[in-house]
Amino acid sequence: MTDVCATNGLLPLEDAIAQLLNFITPLTDSQSVPLAQAANRVLSDDVVSPLHIPLHDNSAMDGYALVLSADTLELGSELNVVAKVLAGHPITQTLQAGECARIMTGGDIPQGCNAVIMQEQVEVLDDHRIRLTANVTCGQNIRPMGQDITKGDVILAKGKRLNPADIGVLASMGLAKVKVTRSLNVAVLSTGDELVEAGQALACGQLYESNTPTLHAVLDRLGVNVLNYGIVEDDEAKLMQVFNQADQAADVVITSGGVSVGEADYTKKVLETLGQLQFWKLAIKPGKPFAFGQLKNSYFIGLPGNPVSALVTLHQLGLPMLRKLSGESLYEKPRLTAITTEPLRKSPGRCDFQRGIYQVNAQGQLEVKSTGAQGSGLLTSMSQANCYIVLEQERGRVAAGERVSIELFDAALGYF
Ligand code: AMP
Ligand code: MG
Repeated sequence: MTDVCATNGLLPLEDAIAQLLNFITPLTDSQSVPLAQAANRVLSDDVVSPLHIPLHDNSAMDGYALVLSADTLELGSELNVVAKVLAGHPITQTLQAGECARIMTGGDIPQGCNAVIMQEQVEVLDDHRIRLTANVTCGQNIRPMGQDITKGDVILAKGKRLNPADIGVLASMGLAKVKVTRSLNVAVLSTGDELVEAGQALACGQLYESNTPTLHAVLDRLGVNVLNYGIVEDDEAKLMQVFNQADQAADVVITSGGVSVGEADYTKKVLETLGQLQFWKLAIKPGKPFAFGQLKNSYFIGLPGNPVSALVTLHQLGLPMLRKLSGESLYEKPRLTAITTEPLRKSPGRCDFQRGIYQVNAQGQLEVKSTGAQGSGLLTSMSQANCYIVLEQERGRVAAGERVSIELFDAALGYF
């Protein structure tokens, strides 16, 4: 199944993503949750509006609702003020030509009225009489019934991940609950004899592990339930035992480290014993070795151990996969074009995800610079960056002033 780029034996990223997504069958289990818990969840069903919004024609301004018997009412016209309408207090009275009603924003337009003039365009003659200081046209300042939402229409489609505005739209339709796909259970663990958890003492040859906490933070933002199995030593039997445990508890098992071809790299071997392995050497930088497959119950993702590689491959391959699995229908990350303000080192053969800092310059153009050294162990390059600079596989060195693609790290949603 793995078709590999002929020139360097590496699989192009787009092919890897396509194969990975092809392998995934989205979850179909659905549950009804209250709106307060629905943000960031994925709709399992279309949402059809049970009502028009606005429910009735209402005023977009504080002013006066008028009766126009022609298309316009000229400035200088004088009208009798015969009623008052506040938001939430509709009236039943029908107004006639020559009459108007004092009305506040959101107030229902009384029967007979077909325009609203804002109060700033009116001269108040006395408590019951006004004169228009501007012309009025039919329909002016009226928010018509159904302008935003039409009863019976699909307003939010199945597969949408709900953002805060979606929650507002659901509430505005009077829906207190919504049907979403169940949250994914994702097991994470790091492999490596050299790894120590933060807070513990460090012995000679050891280092503090950062991948599990990083993955955990990314996955939290995606709204999945994270099952944290911490650090597992480079030991085949131990890995076998933990992979089995994780497989029973999770929909997806994500590991980091031990996935390349070193002597202590057991991830592939264990996965082959317990399940089915797809292993790719990807044409991306950083993040070349990447394992993917299935255990008995769960999907499996083996990320490389280098911290930047782990995060890049989680973003580029892991997230689309998790988003498809949770039923989401749109999981492509948009790319923008920016001008690089400095030269970028690049050799043809792999697609680079360099860490960048973008800004809008004085001319209003998007420009980007590198965070500096790009080694796959330099995790601060990720924390300083606000975007990836995506340099296409066959591109060589980039000169200052050239256009490059960037992917924003969106604080609100983007890279979770
Ligand atoms: P590996 O993929 O296991 O060969 O690891 C590659 C490099 O990444 C080695 O220098 C590891 O020490 C480092 N590494 C692996 N896992 C982690 C981790 N969880 N946190 C920090 N560094 C790691
Ligand atoms: Mg290792």
